[in-house]
Amino acid sequence: MKLYSTQHESPDVSLEEAIFRGLPPDNGLYMPQEIAPMPAVFFETIHTLTLPQIAVAVCKHLLGDELTDAEIEGIIARSMTFEAPVVDLEPNVGVLELFHGPSMAFKDFGARFMAAIMSHYLVKSAREIRILVATSGDTGGAVAQGFFNTPGISVTILYPSGKVSDIQEKQLTTLGGNVTALEIDGTFDDCQRLVKQAFLDAELRAAFELASANSINIARLIPQSFYYFAAYAEARRKGVTKPIVFCVPSGNFGNISAGLMAYSMGLPVHDFIAACNENHPVPDYLATGNYTPSPSVETLSNAMDVGTPSNFIRMKILAGDEWKAVRDRMKGYFTSDEKTQATMLDVFERNSYIMCPHTAVGYDGLSQYMDEYGDDVFGIILATAHYAKFLPTVESTLGCTVDVPERLASLLHLQKKSIPMGTDFEGFKKYLLG
Ligand SMILES: *Cc1c(COP(=O)(O)O)cnc(C)c1O
Repeated sequence: MKLYSTQHESPDVSLEEAIFRGLPPDNGLYMPQEIAPMPAVFFETIHTLTLPQIAVAVCKHLLGDELTDAEIEGIIARSMTFEAPVVDLEPNVGVLELFHGPSMAFKDFGARFMAAIMSHYLVKSAREIRILVATSGDTGGAVAQGFFNTPGISVTILYPSGKVSDIQEKQLTTLGGNVTALEIDGTFDDCQRLVKQAFLDAELRAAFELASANSINIARLIPQSFYYFAAYAEARRKGVTKPIVFCVPSGNFGNISAGLMAYSMGLPVHDFIAACNENHPVPDYLATGNYTPSPSVETLSNAMDVGTPSNFIRMKILAGDEWKAVRDRMKGYFTSDEKTQATMLDVFERNSYIMCPHTAVGYDGLSQYMDEYGDDVFGIILATAHYAKFLPTVESTLGCTVDVPERLASLLHLQKKSIPMGTDFEGFKKYLLG
């Protein structure tokens, strides 16, 4: 896989270089030069394949020029260690549960794959790197878990103080070891800006080998394409014949970009739906053709509180680049907090199924889509996190206590360890150099 910069002012790079650089020097994003369709036989037999088998096939297709078959199989065996089932919710609506990994959010897929592929390259070259990652909640937990105790890698996580849930904060701040959490007195956008600026800072780049684990890193995107294929395979096994639409609760638009990559590889998807909360520059762009990023607004679905989605340009290119083409490929909707809670309650009462706020935004997005375009489709909502990660919201919305999986409950007793910090770059830089 060769990658170019979306700004077209940096040289093309190999996968290894794109993964360790994170961002190209011209401040664009790395994009695969070519995403060819999977061979027809793959789709003919896809219903017989498991998620790891699909992951191996897609990786060989995309990365076979840089990694041997045995290396790919090793990386997949180490990273794709949990399920992504499609649960029947209603006739013609399934929920793709992406929260069965260690941090119980879909970001485990990207983080674990990235840790596995990075350590593959690091072991080969005996180097040390420092990962910087900004999180609006779930990335940090997944990256902390994914990279914990990986030799040669230290991880610094920036999170917005008071804007992540208790459980999320504990996931970031209790591992210790090679994982450090910086508690930033600002928003997620501030965290993201500090990380971006660090990557462009010559002095820091000279002092450390920095790498990013945000969804701007192409290593996060690739594995997220696997479960779109796997969900399609499962729908086929269930006998679904209607056109499939994927509804993706979106913030930085990495997840939906991965779906669009799967589409580029030939996955038959009728439509992609971007479901947003009150941060909705992308639905606005789809409606008007004007893209106006804005400061982020706080909502109950806080992992999607992104006013300036970092993957916008990737999403746009993958969806056809021209506004009309993009509008053809994907639809966008947004949902208020009030509607999110009403949806959580409604789904719980009708289906006895508990959704996290993000997934409920997805459910509402799919409902809006079906109102507009009809319901003669099979809708797959990506359930991006386990509900128990957002316990106070879930319990107050449903008006009852809910079960918390042991994996999360045990965290609450642990002591948080974080380093408080402001939003100015000089302070952050001084800390890193110190
Ligand atoms: C990160 C996250 C999202 C948004 O995903 P993007 O790839 O940034 O669009 C949605 N829901 C949850 C629970 C998340 O953690």
